[in-house]
Amino acid sequence: MSSLTCPRCKTNLSTRTAGELSFGECGTCFGVWVDAPSFEKISADPDKHGADLSWPDKGPTNWPVVYIPCAECGTVMNRINFGRVSGVVVDICQRHGIWFDRDELRQVMDFVRKGGLREARAIELAEHRSEMKELRAVGKVGSARGEKFAAVVNFLIGS
Ligand SMILES: [Zn+2]
Ligand SMILES: [Zn+2]
Repeated sequence: MSSLTCPRCKTNLSTRTAGELSFGECGTCFGVWVDAPSFEKISADPDKHGADLSWPDKGPTNWPVVYIPCAECGTVMNRINFGRVSGVVVDICQRHGIWFDRDELRQVMDFVRKGGLREARAIELAEHRSEMKELRAVGKVGSARGEKFAAVVNFLIGS
């Protein structure tokens, strides 16, 4: 996580750690960049990791609807409704991680904690059970770290 850039302010993010998590935080807008390994930990156990995080009460939350660049590679990110039904629109780079504007990570963690992701995943699985089976059969759903994140991303985007 070296030289990350805030997609909003174009300034350098400072690296912060909280428990096992490592993320980039912007000292100007208080948005946070969560890389793939940290996001996997959060979505797997939001109660455990949420306890280590604090939420700044200043900084903008209503940004104009624009596409913003990945903090790591600068590629324009996808805007997604997290978990399809949460109503929290986050920006995601399929290779590197997710950008949360100030307060979005808190909202997403609330959603995950209430089981929103499990519910959405259950719907997804019911819809695409046979498709998932096929993917597994041809080895497209793997357990390696990168593949796991890719699977989460595909699920979130709904592709
Ligand atoms: Zn910023
Ligand atoms: Zn990227």
